[in-house]
Amino acid sequence: MAGIIQGFQKRRISEARTLARKSVLYSEDSIQKIELLNAKVEKLTVITQALWEIVQQTSGIDETDLSRRVQEMTSPKKVKKETKLRCVRCGMAVSSNNPKCIYCGGELDCCADQSLFELL
Ligand SMILES: [Zn+2]
Repeated sequence: MAGIIQGFQKRRISEARTLARKSVLYSEDSIQKIELLNAKVEKLTVITQALWEIVQQTSGIDETDLSRRVQEMTSPKKVKKETKLRCVRCGMAVSSNNPKCIYCGGELDCCADQSLFELL
């Protein structure tokens, strides 16, 4: 009987070690993804700044105009236009207001009606 319990405990310990190793790998992978995203955000920030400087110099649009437009676009009162997109994994139709499929978490077949900025 003690041997059965010991064997059971050894198996549980082994499973826990395997799970711990997988968790470490998953967290290392997540850190790499975050670092890549940070690098992309920094690059996009530089590009946006460069574009903004060109627009200011060539159009007469100023910081006030930009702030007003950003406020309009980020206002909670602004309702996103809703369309239905199809999940590439399960095939269900899902509102485009969701970043992923609400049924299975799959990617949504996008994005014919979205601008490049919405696809970032
Ligand atoms: Zn789905």
